[in-house]
Amino acid sequence: MRQPLVAGNWKMNGSRASIRELLDGVKAGMGEVKTAEVAVCSPHIFLCDVQQQLDGSAVAWGGQDISVHESGAYTGETAGSMLAEFGCKYVIIGHSERRTYHGETDQVVAEKFVAARKAGLVPILCIGETLEERESGITEEVVGRQIDAVIAHCGVEMLGEGVIAYEPVWAIGTGKTASPEQAQEVHAFIRGRIAAASATVAEGLRILYGGSMNPGNAAQLLAQSDIDGGLIGGASLKAADFLAIATAANA
Ligand code: PEP
Repeated sequence: MRQPLVAGNWKMNGSRASIRELLDGVKAGMGEVKTAEVAVCSPHIFLCDVQQQLDGSAVAWGGQDISVHESGAYTGETAGSMLAEFGCKYVIIGHSERRTYHGETDQVVAEKFVAARKAGLVPILCIGETLEERESGITEEVVGRQIDAVIAHCGVEMLGEGVIAYEPVWAIGTGKTASPEQAQEVHAFIRGRIAAASATVAEGLRILYGGSMNPGNAAQLLAQSDIDGGLIGGASLKAADFLAIATAANA
């Protein structure tokens, strides 16, 4: 049985004060969350505060990106060891905003997956098609390619040490959510693709849905057999909404 994971992606939002308030709210409501594991992925500059506030709580935390390098002359980047030093369990890699605005290729994302594992972090590997790709009927080709790149570089066993987030790009931050059927169809495809390399890894791997998930649509999405949680952007900035999504996963 795969434990659902509900992970927040705050993106580049918040202040020290607003995050303190947000996390106070999340911690206060965690008693209602019966089934899901809950995590928040913070801007790196706030990780020291996040660690202090969440240490000893039921909420895990993580970063939003990682350098492929371990250290050195890479101005502005964050090494996996640095994220680990601030208690991160997770790190998001290959988010569509990184792929689009920072030119991250499938190869770079695969290298980041390895960098995360070397630092003992659990990578949340984001994959997903654009609207144009969906309308051209190549969704499976795109997500298949994105997965294959990681398997080719790391091997399927290492892929199994991470988490996948299927995030159709057209649904991220747009208010347009994939229907539960649309999402389930792609999640099942992803699991099948991985099963071709290892049935055991495919069975154990958590595949999250991301893209305008909110308290109103979470229960139906999370009820799908191949949807094992959510990666939540906008709704993770409001404690009540984030908790409502996490409790929607209650068995
Ligand atoms: C995301 O940033 O990964 C995301 C899914 O955002 P939103 O929930 O706002 O669509």
